[in-house]
Parts: sequence; C-alpha cells; structure tokens
Amino acid sequence: MKKICLSLAALLLLFSCQEDEKTVNTDARVSKRTCVSNEVLERQLKENPELAIKMNQIEDFTMNTMTNGRLVNGRIEIPVVFNVLYRTASENISDAQLQSQLDVLNADFNATNSDFNQVPTLFSGVKANVGITFVLDRVIRKATTKTSWGTRDAMKKNKQGGIDPTTPTTKLNFWVCTIGGGILGYAQFPGGASSTDGVVVDSKYVGVTSNSGSAYPYNLGRTATHEVGHWMNLRHIWGDTTCGSDLVADTPTHNTANYGVPTYPHYSTCTGTPVEMTMNYMDYTDDRGMYMFTTGQKARINAIFVSGGARFSFAQP
Ligand code: ZN
Ligand code: CA
Repeated sequence: MKKICLSLAALLLLFSCQEDEKTVNTDARVSKRTCVSNEVLERQLKENPELAIKMNQIEDFTMNTMTNGRLVNGRIEIPVVFNVLYRTASENISDAQLQSQLDVLNADFNATNSDFNQVPTLFSGVKANVGITFVLDRVIRKATTKTSWGTRDAMKKNKQGGIDPTTPTTKLNFWVCTIGGGILGYAQFPGGASSTDGVVVDSKYVGVTSNSGSAYPYNLGRTATHEVGHWMNLRHIWGDTTCGSDLVADTPTHNTANYGVPTYPHYSTCTGTPVEMTMNYMDYTDDRGMYMFTTGQKARINAIFVSGGARFSFAQP
C-alpha cells in the first residue's frame, strides 16, 4: 500500500510538472525551483526496483479496463503451439499428453491446482492467482534422426533440423524433444530474439504421467510451469547466487536452490533467517513440492504484458 501511494505521488508530481515548466522561462528565480519530480522518480526507481513494477501495475489496470480482444475480463489468453520433435515413438507424445500439460498450466496460473490449499498459513497472504490462461493453437510434429538436441536452440531452427517458431510474437511456442544432459527444460526470458522465443521441455517431462513412471519426481507438468515463469520474466527464487534476490519483495531470501520436497518449515540462514518458500514454482523442488506463485511475482508478470512491456503483443486484440 505504501508503495502504491509512493508511485501515485510520483505520477502526480510528473503531471504537475508540466504546468510548472511553463513559468520557468519567464522568471530566473523560478527556474531554480523547477519541478524535480523526474529526478525524484529516477532516484526512487534506483533505490527501489519494486517501484517500476508497481507503476507498471497501474498501467496494467488501465490497459485491462481499456482494451478488448485477448484481455478477457482482464485476463490474458495465450495461444500455445507445441512443436514436437521425435525419433522414437515415446518421444512422439500424444495429443492427450500435451493437453494434460495445458491443463496443468491453466491450473497453476489460475490457482486451481489441487495442491494450492497446501500453501502454509505463513504465506497465505501472498499466494496468488496469476490469472493467465493458455489455449491450444496447434501441434506441429516432425520426425528426426537426432538423439538429443542440447541447449543451444537447434530445435527452434528448420535449418538445424528443428522447427521454426510459429508467429512467436503472439503465440507461446513450446518445443518438445529430448534435450539431454539431465536438463528438464529451459526458457527464453523476455527481450530475446523472437526467432528463438519460447520454452523447451524434454519430452519425458511434458504433462502428467504416473508416479511409478520414469519421469517421477518430475511427472506433474511443473517443469513447464517453472519455465513459463521464466518466459514471463520470473527469476529463480534464490536469485541464482547465495542469498541472492529474485527482484520480488514478497518472496523470502533463500540460501540457494532447494531439491526434493523439503520439510516445512525450512529456515534460511540469510539475513533475518526467514522461512523459505520452498513450495514456490521458481524453486527447484520436485514437482509435488511446488504449488504457488506470489502477488509480487504476479506483478512482475503483469508488467511485461502492459503497453511498452516486452510481451505486450500477447495482450493485444
Ligand atoms: Zn529455472
Ligand atoms: Ca525475494
């Protein structure tokens, strides 16, 4: 609340600034005390990275009330293209398996996942419904002779035997293939080339499979949830360094990545020794151990879909 007030104040100062400047030319004394709001705002943005997010939230609200099309009741609907590259029959996963992945994404991003109620009371005030939905656009399949595709985007290029993305500025492209090297998946953050934009998930870890299958404990489709989190600009919750920052205020500082399913409460040894939010999708736990995003993460996500945001094209009619 404090921050909203702060940014609103900053915005109001920006507007009042224009009037002041008219008087500046005619009076040398006045120019001394010309409006410094821009400098103030710049300083505040430097001191508080969350401010830009808050300000973008205001823009987001404005956009949602002003536009139609893909923003249905303020909700963004993202068309999904699955690009399936297969050598073996098991890599050529079924349409039903792909649909189970879409179902997981829709549940996780709309807080309808069945484990959402497992979020500890400590975090119940910040657990969030991101409110973005995913709709199947098309499935493209291609047979290959490659046994693994690596992490250098070969799967995204026709010329390298892969599949070029389909209209990546308005559709979220997934590549489903064997990555190799024990990698479950990887995503491109906002700001990268559109020719490689999207998310790669290893064929084995797409959608939901049995607890006794070989994908366990990564068998609940959460690799895609985590990777789409990155695609929407979310960082790892531990900030990719010891006691690092994920640029989100309402997630606690984690020492490092957590694996398996940590017993609650798991305490951080970072400043303030907070209880870690190991059940956040942006940690590294097993699929059954992750089941929430936060309000702060939602604000970061919303910021990329507003006018001027890196993925604004997905929010347009
Ligand atoms: Zn990650
Ligand atoms: Ca944080």
